[in-house]
Amino acid sequence: MKPPCYEYVAPDTLAGALRVRAESEDSVVLAGGQSLVPTLNFRLANPDTVIDLRRVAELATIDTRDGMIRVGAMTRQRTLERNDAVLARNPLIRETMEYIAHPVIRNRGTVGGSVAHADPASELPCLLTLLDGELTARSSAGARTIPAAEFFEFVFTTALEPEELLVEVAFPVLEPGEGWAFREFARRHGDFAVAGAGATLLLDDAGRIARARLAACGVATTPVRLRAAEEALRGVEPGSEAFRAAGELARDAVTTVDDTAASADYRRHLLSGLVNDVLTRAAARAGGPR
Ligand SMILES: Cc1cc2nc3c(=O)[nH]c(=O)nc-3n(C[C@H](O)[C@H](O)[C@H](O)COP(=O)(O)OP(=O)(O)OC[C@H]3O[C@@H](n4cnc5c(N)ncnc54)[C@H](O)[C@@H]3O)c2cc1C
Repeated sequence: MKPPCYEYVAPDTLAGALRVRAESEDSVVLAGGQSLVPTLNFRLANPDTVIDLRRVAELATIDTRDGMIRVGAMTRQRTLERNDAVLARNPLIRETMEYIAHPVIRNRGTVGGSVAHADPASELPCLLTLLDGELTARSSAGARTIPAAEFFEFVFTTALEPEELLVEVAFPVLEPGEGWAFREFARRHGDFAVAGAGATLLLDDAGRIARARLAACGVATTPVRLRAAEEALRGVEPGSEAFRAAGELARDAVTTVDDTAASADYRRHLLSGLVNDVLTRAAARAGGPR
């Protein structure tokens, strides 16, 4: 298939991109093109204007401030994954990103593109949901910060307004001694996850769980935080019994549907095992040096 006709613009600055965004009736943003180009070719999108952000260097930055790793929306996924300063502050980012597609796709795909696309099976939205990350949107009227918990609204649907651009994605750094893990199941390595789960685990001085965070992808219309399982883990000793019970609570908390990749029951069964697995891995990493 060939894409529909549209006007193509490639501004050099964010201000220029925001101006075009404000002036066009129905624009879309071209970031890495890994999801948008097939969407255009299949004519699932029919915009009047395509705004290519690849020349906007000010959106391709990585910076750590106020306990947050702040990533410009046009940062290539592979650049974030391979950044050693990011690895030192939050190794969960690299572990999670290794599950996104294949290296050639991550070379082109951007952090902002993945987040704005909001596929419910995607890893980065799940990670932001897990860590209580923040998204910054800008329009010609100004900027606003949106907590990850409010950003992902439905399948391929976010809180971004039509005149806004996603400009920054912020991941909190991990606490000293915080354990972490991400795992997913896909039919082939690099495919979208049938289900995935991430965990962080912070222990108190007595070795009990002070804080557990759990989130999943592929099991609902958005990434989901598994609050009931988190609550059940607080104050208990880490171990196989507690982690198996948390997996069962997670399984019971999600409602999903049958589709061509898996039945709802199978997905929920997978989630239970994945939660047990990420908690076991996070516990093994908790307390020691990162
Ligand atoms: C074979 C294959 C396998 C894949 N497997 C996975 C996988 O396992 N996990 C996964 O997470 N992803 C996967 N992907 C998707 C990949 O990660 C894409 O890179 C990502 O979804 C989109 O990023 P992009 O930079 O290419 O964005 P684009 O395709 O350019 O844009 C995607 C959407 O986001 C919008 N957008 C982009 N940037 C902005 C912005 N700054 N502000 C507002 N809107 C914006 C676009 O308008 C478009 O609607 C796969 C892709 C392919 C082709």
